[in-house]
Formats: sequence, C-alpha cells, structure tokens
Amino acid sequence: MAAVRLEGVVKKFKAERGFFEWGRANHTDILALDHLYLDIREGETLSVVGPSGCGKTTSLKVIAGLETIDQGNVYFNDQNVNEVRPIDRRIGMVFQNYALYPHMISRENLAFPFRLRKWPEYKIDEKIEFTCETLGVELGALLGRFPKTLSAGQKQRVALGRCIIRNPSVFLMDEPLSNLDAKSRKKTRVEIKRLLNRFRITTVYVTHDQEEAISLADRIAVMRKGRIDQAGTFEEVYHHPVNMFVAEFIGDPPMNFLHLTLKKGKGGLFLENGLRIPLPTKKFQALKKEEYLNKEVILGIRPEQIKRAEMAPSSPEMHRFNALVEEAEVKMSGILLFLEAGGHKLIAAIDSTLPIKRGDKIELAFDTEKAKIFDRDSQRVIVS
Ligand code: ATP
Repeated sequence: MAAVRLEGVVKKFKAERGFFEWGRANHTDILALDHLYLDIREGETLSVVGPSGCGKTTSLKVIAGLETIDQGNVYFNDQNVNEVRPIDRRIGMVFQNYALYPHMISRENLAFPFRLRKWPEYKIDEKIEFTCETLGVELGALLGRFPKTLSAGQKQRVALGRCIIRNPSVFLMDEPLSNLDAKSRKKTRVEIKRLLNRFRITTVYVTHDQEEAISLADRIAVMRKGRIDQAGTFEEVYHHPVNMFVAEFIGDPPMNFLHLTLKKGKGGLFLENGLRIPLPTKKFQALKKEEYLNKEVILGIRPEQIKRAEMAPSSPEMHRFNALVEEAEVKMSGILLFLEAGGHKLIAAIDSTLPIKRGDKIELAFDTEKAKIFDRDSQRVIVS
C-alpha cells in the first residue's frame, strides 16, 4: 500500500485540430491540470468529483503514469515516481468500460498476468480462488464464460477481480459503475465497499454520482478546472464548504443562494432585499469585522434545512417567512417545493405528508445559525 501525493502538477494537452481548422492560426494548449495538489493517505478511499472536463480522469492517468506531466511531482510514499514506468507503479485500474480481453474466458482474463510470468498452474489456481473468495461466490460462477456473454455488472465484477488479483498498492477507479443499471449499481457498490474495507488499499475513485462518493469514500475532493477546491470528509464539504462552487456541487438539490444587503437596524444586523433576515450574533460579528455593512453578500441555505414553520422549533435563530409554491414535486422522501419569496427563487425539500400544491401560500422557516454567507465577488465563504 502507498500514500500518494501530487504536488503542483501541471498537465497540458495540445489542442487537436479538426478538419475545419486546418491551416488556421495556432491553437492554445488545453490546461487539464493546473498546479494540482492532492494528498491521498495510505489506505484511504478518496473520491474525486467535479464537472465534466475538470481533469478527473487525467489525474488518475497521471498517478498511473499513463500520462506524462509538464510540471510538478508525483510521490508514492515519499518516493518521487515521475520517472517510474506504469508497470512498476503497481496500480490496479478499473474503468467504466471494463477493458477485458474479449477472446479469453473470465478465468484467463484473471490468469493472464501470471501466465506472462510463467507461474505454475497450481499457484494461479490459488490466486484465482483467493480472489473469488474476496469478491464473493458470484465471480466463481463466471469464470468459464467469455466477456460477451456477461451482463454489465458481471463484466465489472471480473474487471474488479482482475484488478485485485495483482495485489496493487494503489487502486484507481474511473466511474466503474456508470454503465450499470440502478439495481446492479447498488449491488456492485456494496461489493466495492466491502472490498475496500477489507483490504484498505489506497484508492482514488472518480465518479459523477455524489451518493456513490459519499457511501464509498473516506474523503471527497471537489475538483474544478484542473484544481481541487476542497478535500475533506462529507461532513466537512457539505457543512463547511469553502466557496459557492463546493456548496452548490455537493448536495442535491443544490444550495439556494440569495443576494441580500447587510444592514444595521434596532435589533442588530440583518440581511435585506425583499426578505428581512435578522442575523445571529456569531454571524454578524464576523460580517461587521470584515466591513460588509451596506454591501451585498450571498446567503446560502440548503433545501433540506427549510422546514414548514409549524414543524420548526421555536428558537430566536429560526427565521420564519412566507412563500408562494410555484411547483411541488412529490418524492419518496417528502416533497420538493419550488418557491418564490420576496422576489427570490428557492427550493425546499420538505419532509411532510401534508398535501401541498402549486399556488399555495405557506409559512416556512430556516435556522440562520446553519445558513452560510459568501462574499459576492470572490464567492468564498465569509461565515459558515
Ligand atoms: P469527464 O467527467 O467528462 O470524464 P474529466 O473531469 O475526467 O471529464 P478529463 O478527461 O481529465 O476530464 O479532461 C480534462 C481536460 O483535458 C478536458 O478539457 C479534456 O477535453 C482534455 N483532454 C483530456 N484528454 C485529452 C487528450 N488526449 N487530448 C486533448 N485533450 C484532452
């Protein structure tokens, strides 16, 4: 097992010229990784999430040594591996599209690297048996079949087996479940989780699916434009996002953002613009200190933190407000309300069995202690 560290890694790609661009002016390079710093502790699972094209796959390829870098360093356990060949990095990779050898039955797919090294048959058998035991009996039942006869979930199981049989020091997974249907996705996710818990192999897991990231990872890294904006436990990135990008990216539906101006009145500081929201002492001290008075700031409220007023505890921090229901969507876990309040659009995820429909006027409440306040220009959090 190895801890992995990326320090100031820069990776540029030459922009490919398309048919219509031949002969035109020079193209600028694509900056896929822009001084990327990433620390993956020994034995932990780090999930990397971020919008399409932000550099997730490129980061995995750089760790695996499949892409060269233009600047920076990659370390495995404090050893600089910039010049170490991919084969010598002992990486296990699982991709979205399995990459099994189609002309070999599953057993041979697993045995292949050992055949190359001319291992005796009985030792290969032992290895395969151990791998099947690790992944569960289902893999054993698939050993005699060719990839084309397997379902997507079964193929992914063989691919996982092929990965762990080599006893990797680092596991790299690039959206391994995205080709599976919802049911096999959940099932395979549990298998991967069991595997990771049992072996505690250092793992980087790229996914678009937040639920997957939360359930599998010890920490989540939120990536944007070739850099990591924040890495931390789910609790950290969800409850203490460093900026609006992280606050919006983590959480579904995303956080509500209200543009409001900080004012001073009789009762203390409050935020105003259609709504009037008094602020708790802790928040207003921080804002006052940083001289935000009479300036616009952005208030962030999670949809799930908005409650029906009658269900909300009566504390001074609970801010009550009226809203018009523009749309209501019934979900398994409650109701999703699309609201208008004081000229602002909001989404609330209400845990309620009461029928609420479009056009209703309702009273809602949220805890101002839990709301976040962001700087309008830098988009960084001011008070969390
Ligand atoms: P997705 O979520 O869509 O898979 P990603 O976050 O994994 O995206 P990357 O595949 O790492 O993103 O790509 C990062 C950037 O580098 C993108 O702008 C992409 O177009 C570019 N890129 C990646 N590989 C190449 C390549 N071989 N040649 C040119 N540009 C590339």
